[in-house]
Amino acid sequence: MIIAVDGYSSCGKSTLAKDLAQALDFTYIDSGAMYRAVTLYGLRNGVTVGKEEDIIPLLDNIKITFDKDAEGKQIILLNGEDVSKEIRGMEVSRSVSYYAKIKEVRCFLVAQQRNYAKNGSIVMDGRDIGTVVFPDAELKIFLTANQSIRAQRRYDEMRAKGKDVSMEEILENLRERDYIDENRKESPLRKASDAVVLDNSQLNRQEQLDVVLQKVHE
Ligand code: C5P
Repeated sequence: MIIAVDGYSSCGKSTLAKDLAQALDFTYIDSGAMYRAVTLYGLRNGVTVGKEEDIIPLLDNIKITFDKDAEGKQIILLNGEDVSKEIRGMEVSRSVSYYAKIKEVRCFLVAQQRNYAKNGSIVMDGRDIGTVVFPDAELKIFLTANQSIRAQRRYDEMRAKGKDVSMEEILENLRERDYIDENRKESPLRKASDAVVLDNSQLNRQEQLDVVLQKVHE
């Protein structure tokens, strides 16, 4: 079974997708982390925003894998290096949507994302999972939440990790990424016609999990 969770930046997709995977004993795949890892590779190798197409000839040098750390938490490896923390920084957040517009980057990652479904049931979160990666997914969730609530959640999360960011920076980053993601030519962020819309602005973690688990069993 494939469950696709799509939606805007910072609306809690990964929390919901991880909770679902744990409840159902499915594998969780964070497709956004894959776009972030490609971006990190580019930034480290002198590919700047404005010349993001320079990443295309470098794609063959990029190997992305998922693993678990000593505590069983999922980590993402870029050419064998754990980059789980670094990909969440503001530099990658500011650049990732520019890289994600590139057709070749999307083809490179979509092929890998589809491979994960060959090994069993998965929950994957992203922007194009229900529309492009798995248009035949058995269940598609389109998650939304009020923008100021999303910004507050991201702010609290970054602050809890000791990152020095302002609310203005966070809001600007969310607005910019949402705009680019919705307006790009390649696989723009869209609700799949058969997706279930879930606004979690007023729902806690358990409540949204319960709503979706009910859909799984319908
Ligand atoms: O999910 P997350 O916010 O970590 O994703 C980072 C960025 O990667 C998004 O803002 C979007 O530009 C891109 N992305 C995408 N398609 C996906 C997942 C993420 O374009 N399936």
